[in-house]
This record gives sequence, structure tokens and C-alpha cells, in this order.
Amino acid sequence: MERRGLLFVISGPAGAGKSMIAKKLVEKYPDVGLSVSCTTRAPRPGEIDGVHYHFVSEERFEELVQRGEFYEWAYVHQNRYGTLRRTVQEQLAQGHDLILEIDVQGCLQAMEQDSEVTGIFVCPPSRENIEKRLRGRGTEGEDALKIRLHNAAREVEQAYRYDYIIVHEDWDAVPDALDRAIEQAYAIITAMRLKTKHSMRFLNALSQSLKRE
Ligand code: 5GP
Repeated sequence: MERRGLLFVISGPAGAGKSMIAKKLVEKYPDVGLSVSCTTRAPRPGEIDGVHYHFVSEERFEELVQRGEFYEWAYVHQNRYGTLRRTVQEQLAQGHDLILEIDVQGCLQAMEQDSEVTGIFVCPPSRENIEKRLRGRGTEGEDALKIRLHNAAREVEQAYRYDYIIVHEDWDAVPDALDRAIEQAYAIITAMRLKTKHSMRFLNALSQSLKRE
């Protein structure tokens, strides 16, 4: 049965593990795609243009904004990030289900402009856990940590706007926490695929054939 692809946005505070969940999910389930965003930040070692991001200049990004080419975009830590409208339209038109792993502002934009978008919020189980994960990244000084925690508080305040919440448990307490979160995210995708409205054509055809003399 041909149907349009479904769009999922996944977000959550820095350190909650949303990017790892999204990355591992599409590795395990190739029937779901992950959108490649545009960013003005410089590539990190090992990052490939067109694979991890489309790395663009400030000028180019601004040009794309002016031309209305972004489905959503936002400033994140002084850089700009955005999802191209074309990427979303092409994937959905081809019937591919697509995940956007984007920041909270971007998710809210997407959910506001399109009621068909499913929002998934990835939450840490506790303050202690997110502090541990942020420190574990090794890049956070005390001031940076305070800012991240403050941002996390603001983001968690927006969680009620999302359709689903996944609590990414502490790996020490729950060794298979990552697998659980991936399975929960895929369960959400599966449930959305099984919505009655996606089967109307099939149901009509089945009912017609059953009525045949
Ligand atoms: P990083 O620079 O570490 O790869 O990503 C930083 C943040 O930017 C993450 O929270 C990520 O979710 C967010 N991000 C990545 N791509 C996009 C995008 O296209 N739009 C928005 N709004 N946020 C994005």
C-alpha cells in the first residue's frame, strides 16, 4: 500500500542522548530515515559534508532563509541549524518515514506548522544523570555546565507539547537503557504507521471484495 511518509521530530536536553538514539535507530531499522541538516558550524574531526551535515557559510544560510527554503531553523549555541523543506518533501513524497533530530525550538516550529508531525521528547531520568552525562563528555567547565542545566530546565518545561516522552534511563542502573529507548522510539513509529487513517483505502477495497456476490 503506497502512502506518504510520516514525519517524526525528536528532541530533548543536551546530554539526554537524543542524537545517539536517533542514529542507532536508523542503523537498526533502515525503513526509517534521518534527515541531514544544514549548519553554519565548522565540521568536527571525522564529520563529512553531506553525511553528518551540509556545512554552509553564514551568507549561504541567510540566503536559504530569505528564499524560504527551510522547513524549520534555529540558533543553537551561536550557530544556525536548519532542515531544508526540499529534503522533507522529497522523502515524504517517496513514502519514506523520516526523523528530524533537532533542537526544541525547531521541534516546536515543526509541530506548530504541521499537525501531522509526531513529536518525541527524550528526557534524562534525573538531574544527577544529566549532570553525569554532561561531565562525561569532558568538554564542560562549571559555567558551561550551569548554562546547559539551565537550558535543560527550560526545555523540560516544553515537554508537555510533545506527543510522546521517552525517559533514557541511567546506563549504570539499566544497562540496556539505550536499546530500550530505541525500541520505544520504534514502537512509536510503528503505532503511527498503524493508525486507521493510513488503511482507509485498504479497508474500503477489502470491504468491497467481501460484499461481492
Ligand atoms: P551539534 O552541533 O552537536 O551536532 O548539534 C547541536 C544541536 O543542534 C543539537 O541539539 C541538534 O539537535 C540541533 N540540530 C541539528 N540539526 C538541526 C536542525 O536542522 N534544526 C534545528 N532546529 N536544530 C538542529
